[in-house]
Amino acid sequence: MPTPISHAAVGFAIAAWTQQRPPARRVCLVAAACATLPDIDYFGWPFAHRAITHSLTFALVIAVAVTLLFFRGPPWTEQRGRIAVSLGLALLSHACLDALSTYSYGLEFLAPFSEQRYRFAWTPLGNPSGSLTGQLVQEVFVVLLPALLLGWLAFKVRGRGLPAKAAAT
Ligand SMILES: [Zn+2]
Repeated sequence: MPTPISHAAVGFAIAAWTQQRPPARRVCLVAAACATLPDIDYFGWPFAHRAITHSLTFALVIAVAVTLLFFRGPPWTEQRGRIAVSLGLALLSHACLDALSTYSYGLEFLAPFSEQRYRFAWTPLGNPSGSLTGQLVQEVFVVLLPALLLGWLAFKVRGRGLPAKAAAT
């Protein structure tokens, strides 16, 4: 919790708003995948859950690596830098959403440098004593739908009103 679908929707929306105008769907889709990636630790070894894959270091390294792998071009341009930032924020959104939930005993934001686990003081997501259905309904209304709406809005707002030349790039 939150579910991978909600994480993906949030990553998509973040990339839609933070990358260069007009937003490219490909960057958004890769960002959505990045936002779900930290939970590969769910399967256990070699990762402890909500440890290294939920850290700032992981977000930074993966954002740069994925940008270099999936978005070809000159080694480092402003556009690629911007994509890396979008992907990094999508990755970080995962840890932030997790830290807003009542589950577990926190995340290792600073791994591998510290094993201290953190959770936000305000944890509105999830209810350990509530039913699973209730939690899923809450997640749909608090995370999933707003994220989908914001992602859609970004394409509406940021995709138009551009000079023809800029829109073509
Ligand atoms: Zn997670």
